[in-house]
Amino acid sequence: MRNRDLKLAFQLSASLLEHSSYHAMTHHFLDVLRALKGVEKVVSYEIFGDIAKRTAEINHHHEFLIRRFPQSLEQAQRDDTYETLQRVLDSHDTGVHYLVERSGPWMSLDVSRDVKPRRIVLLKGKLNGYNMALVNGLFAVYANQVALLDKKERDELTSLPNRHSFDLMLAQVLDFYSQKKRLPENRSWLAVLDIDHFKNINDSHGHLFGDEVLLHFCGLMESTFRYSDFAFRFGGDEFVIVLNQTNVEGAKLSLERFRRRVENFNFPGSAVSTSIGFTMVDPRKAPSKLVEEADKALYHSKATGRNRVSQYSSALEKKRLDNDDVELFVDSS
Ligand code: GH3
Ligand code: MG
Repeated sequence: MRNRDLKLAFQLSASLLEHSSYHAMTHHFLDVLRALKGVEKVVSYEIFGDIAKRTAEINHHHEFLIRRFPQSLEQAQRDDTYETLQRVLDSHDTGVHYLVERSGPWMSLDVSRDVKPRRIVLLKGKLNGYNMALVNGLFAVYANQVALLDKKERDELTSLPNRHSFDLMLAQVLDFYSQKKRLPENRSWLAVLDIDHFKNINDSHGHLFGDEVLLHFCGLMESTFRYSDFAFRFGGDEFVIVLNQTNVEGAKLSLERFRRRVENFNFPGSAVSTSIGFTMVDPRKAPSKLVEEADKALYHSKATGRNRVSQYSSALEKKRLDNDDVELFVDSS
């Protein structure tokens, strides 16, 4: 190997380590791979299949729960790469693998199975020996960093992104909309979900049992919402979901569907329900204001009997300032 090549390899490895978030590092890793000679296409995926298998209710769905990265707020994407991914998921172990598909040669880069969700990068193209070795080396650095960054960005119990990741993601979503001249009809919605009387569940069945309920709850979130929606664990029994690409009716429908699924799901031990509050993601508002609105709507759901979905409404809030008798929230049931 020439000195120049060695220097380049070290520089590229070092550039991966410069990024302090999984999102930024993965973007950079994909850019580095795309710039290599012979590379035609690079796509990265997050696989939630293992979570799906944990819940009996969705066991008979053999489809893997997959989210493509980088996620797009513009459109849901499924292309020819998806078929190759299905074969990769069905067939092999983690690490670097070479595949010969009808469409040509591919490499699959699969971060450890211990990392949840599983991450896979697929690369299409014919690489020379040096570049193949370079991809192998860079991937080893990338896989280590993914595991480290997950510890910072994800909740240990459920593997969902945590509150810190939510703050970063909401800033990106607001940035996306603030660049638009007009808010599109299909936009984003912020919902806060909280398990009803979770303390009672812990008290009557124990903390471990409570953890099991949280895992099932999280599995239901992953399988109910679309793969273009973003789910987070805020802490304790409180979760947040950002619904993308939908209008107010669609947001209500999917939150209501989730509420019903929780109500009807066969949790071990006792029945569980959830209260939900949601609001429109308006780029003119501060992130803390949006969370506060969804929280107020959640509080309304709790105060009016739990196991329900409420939408925050600013028009009604304004009216309430003038007239105390008017309800602050739109009950979406
Ligand atoms: P509400 O219907 O008003 O939401 O009542 P609640 O009992 O769900 O509300 P509260 O916020 O008082 O209870 C949340 C409980 O969640 C309290 C805390 O002990 C428990 N908790 C927080 N984190 C965890 C966890 O990781 N595992 C388990 N098992 N319990 C947790
Ligand atoms: Mg609760």
